Amino acid sequence: MHLTDTIASIATAISPEQGSIAVVRLSGDCAQNIARKIFVYGGKQIWESHRILYGKVVDPSSGRVIDECLLLLMLAPRSFTQEDVVEFHCHGGIIAVQEVLQLSLSLGARLAEPGEFTLRAFRNGRIDLLQAEAIHDLVCAKSQVAAQMAIATLQGKLGEKITQLRETCLAILADIEAHIDFADDLPELDQAAVQQQIAQVWETGQHILKTSEQGQLLRDGIKVAIIGRPNVGKSSLLNAWTRSDRAIVTDLPGTTRDIVDAYLVVRGIPVQILDTAGIRATVDQVERIGVERSLKAAHNADLVLLVIDQEIGWQEQESAIYAEVKDKPVIVVLNKSDLPTADSHTEQKVAEAGLPMVRTSALYDQGIDQLEEAILHVVGASSWQVSNLTYAINQRQKACLVRAVTALENLQATINQGLPLDFWTIDLRGAIASLGEITGQHITEDILNSIFSRFCLGK
Ligand code: GDP
Repeated sequence: MHLTDTIASIATAISPEQGSIAVVRLSGDCAQNIARKIFVYGGKQIWESHRILYGKVVDPSSGRVIDECLLLLMLAPRSFTQEDVVEFHCHGGIIAVQEVLQLSLSLGARLAEPGEFTLRAFRNGRIDLLQAEAIHDLVCAKSQVAAQMAIATLQGKLGEKITQLRETCLAILADIEAHIDFADDLPELDQAAVQQQIAQVWETGQHILKTSEQGQLLRDGIKVAIIGRPNVGKSSLLNAWTRSDRAIVTDLPGTTRDIVDAYLVVRGIPVQILDTAGIRATVDQVERIGVERSLKAAHNADLVLLVIDQEIGWQEQESAIYAEVKDKPVIVVLNKSDLPTADSHTEQKVAEAGLPMVRTSALYDQGIDQLEEAILHVVGASSWQVSNLTYAINQRQKACLVRAVTALENLQATINQGLPLDFWTIDLRGAIASLGEITGQHITEDILNSIFSRFCLGK
């Protein structure tokens, strides 16, 4: 790939009849030329960097006006990619914006690959790899907390920390190498000091590693399946929870046949709720499909809410349903707590199974807070202080950091065994490489490709 070729793409989401503005973005050496060929603007406006011009996009071959739009010119190096960038702010919808893109392509631009603008920003040193990934996280954020964390990383907070660790390792390496090369001229290497520095880097690494679980929860969220026999109040519970009317609430058992998705945010964690068809032995063909689907949903979920009508209590049917999902984390929801309790053995059954239990009344909106607390407890987030979260690493970064801290552990072992200095540098170099992989200072093309291919077009 030549970095000087000009790439083009629609940078905004496009949808028929939607969006008042859509942006076509060009980046590369020919961006200005292409724009000049197709953009016609009033004489008094000045064509210069970081200025917005008002005009028309005109097809030079036919003279046809394609759109009336604004043009924003950002010349290198003062642009996101550090190349010449031109943005056409067109009308929304799908036609005009696509025609502007097609026209740019016909004049020599190439359709950008997914994430290619960000890749160029990274290659040209505008952002590090952590910041590139944070842009993706910000666009994909499903909660305010997830977005805040992405912004913190985008502002370089995590990058600074990792870079510091790497620089400390580089300084130690330089010191060791000096002692290898000039053993006779230098005083003996202070082994204790080296070990202490390594221990500090290791400790900070461990601290950062701890953020990965939070990061994963905040980025990906959790899927919760609400299951139980028909008529126990699953749809009502979903409704009470989301305070929406998306689920069908009915008195006829077995009529909630479709899985309903609802999205909530619980202490910053995006929660996707699957309300499933009531599970019971059935001969009805359509209902059987619903039952199969609901079990499948339960198997795909991270957490299962087994709803029981407390008037009926835990019966054989509940045991049968539980048997289907017992490899998942399960919370028992004893619903209809506003009605009298019919049996006393339910709590015993739940306790025997070692399951957490919450009482709710979906009808009167009661017990929802306790339900959320129970969920947070199960996913290990009950003690979270959202305001304390600053950044969190993703799975790729975690894998690199694990390699780095493991290399440092090996290094400590090497030193303790009294092996010569040459041996020390092997593990230290490994740690430096792994830390460099996190920020992108030390990265292979394959890894870069796999990271940026996850981005959507136009980013
Ligand atoms: P599903 O088949 O499990 O989804 O159950 P529904 O949500 O359709 O509820 C079945 C019936 O139970 C409806 O008549 C609801 O109004 C009623 N119901 C649901 N939750 C409660 C509750 O907490 N208390 C009472 N008294 N009735 C409830």
